Amino acid sequence: MATTRHSQAMFFQARAGEKVRDKVLQRALQKAKPLFSGKRGQAMVALADDGMDFETLRTACEEIRNRVLNDLDVWLALFEERAKANGAEVLWARDGDDICDLVIDVARRHGVSKVAKSKSMLSEEAHLNDALSAAGIRPVETDLGEYIIQLAGETPSHIIAPAVHKTIEQIEELFAKEHGRPIEQRTSEDIPAMTREARAVLREHFLTADMGISGANFLIAETGTASLVTNEGNGRMVTTLPKVHVVITGIEKVVPTLEDFATLMRMLPRSATGQTISNYVSLLTGTKRPGDSDGPEKTVFILVDNGRASLLGSAYQDMLRCIRCSACMNHCPVYFSLGGHAYGWVYPGPMGSVLTPLYTGIANALDLPHASTGCNQCGSVCPVKIPLPKLMHRLREDQNEMGLRPWSERLGLKAWAWVAGKPRLYRWLVRRAIGYLHWLADDKGRIQVLGMAPGWTVGRDLVAPQGKSFHEQYAARKRASK
Ligand code: SF4
Repeated sequence: MATTRHSQAMFFQARAGEKVRDKVLQRALQKAKPLFSGKRGQAMVALADDGMDFETLRTACEEIRNRVLNDLDVWLALFEERAKANGAEVLWARDGDDICDLVIDVARRHGVSKVAKSKSMLSEEAHLNDALSAAGIRPVETDLGEYIIQLAGETPSHIIAPAVHKTIEQIEELFAKEHGRPIEQRTSEDIPAMTREARAVLREHFLTADMGISGANFLIAETGTASLVTNEGNGRMVTTLPKVHVVITGIEKVVPTLEDFATLMRMLPRSATGQTISNYVSLLTGTKRPGDSDGPEKTVFILVDNGRASLLGSAYQDMLRCIRCSACMNHCPVYFSLGGHAYGWVYPGPMGSVLTPLYTGIANALDLPHASTGCNQCGSVCPVKIPLPKLMHRLREDQNEMGLRPWSERLGLKAWAWVAGKPRLYRWLVRRAIGYLHWLADDKGRIQVLGMAPGWTVGRDLVAPQGKSFHEQYAARKRASK
């Protein structure tokens, strides 16, 4: 199981309250929200215009991922064999502490004092930057969003847009402090100039870092290749300029063939940013060969479990299909009301509501599987058909079975199950409940205080039931059709 010492997922409710009241955060989220979902929507329309069908394509992606997971050991062994044949070293990490120990060991073996990093969620799982700094090695984040949050001393709030919670004014302040350009000389529309400023600083780091660390979107077994899909050139700098390149990625990221990779790539950028293809798609195979103009002298793959293997063969195996596109959170009303930090660990949104309890322990993230409206937007956009709402329900069931829910809730569910098994009693109670709700409602049909569960009406009114119940309508239709 992943380390829980940095997880704040148990404080979801308190953090959610804070985030809802944070006006600056709300401004940043409301600005970003339509961008993600709008661009993905346009990309899917264009997909159909190009003669491809979303459902057919995502079924193909689901099948590729299932094929891998059903024989994960075989594909990992093949990847290891091919990667070693290309001159790479392959190491295995059980958990976050292992990742840190292995990276520091590689760094010490090669006399590394500075590391340039491309985005890697696994290094967030391991809190690698803290471990590197403690070992006297300077980590520098080079993805622009990651660079911003490193300056702010924060963690990512989104898996592909780590600084989405920051406003331009906050970033201006950070850059003024770090880059020494007085804030009075800036205009808030000066984004290209700010980007150039960050680029100039980062270029120095690319040229002087002894080691590059990246993640990998996929590992291709048949060729021993790591693929990296980015929109900034930093991924290529990090993986080719320093003398040592370390790839840290989860064991579930392997895919069998280049053809499978190509199929998944039809879905990944479209689902993530609405692009047909990302700006940079790099296929990194082995070390620099004689005659190559660039490339690392040493390539190390660190393949990480950190809770993944325990999901194989379990009711949650489907979650390992995730290709980290972020479409689920980009369409989630809960995510865009709170931002990613409310979720308390590395992965936010619906995928985090499933992954965090599974990786850090069900008892350590009790609220997350309940952080859902049940609208299934996440499940319907997921490019590998992960049934996210179903998995959240399953986690709620597990919480109940493990006795982790309050006794009143468990008793209520038992009573509900008993009543639901007795249709006549159920219908009688529904009629009584409707009458009670009408009695509570004001003359506009709205309930301002719900007697037995006042929490429901703290922030909004409840509309009293309208018309007839489902059973009454069903019986009426049956009678009419006779
Ligand atoms: S769960 Fe699905 S939609 Fe969410 S990040 Fe993973 S692949 Fe994308």
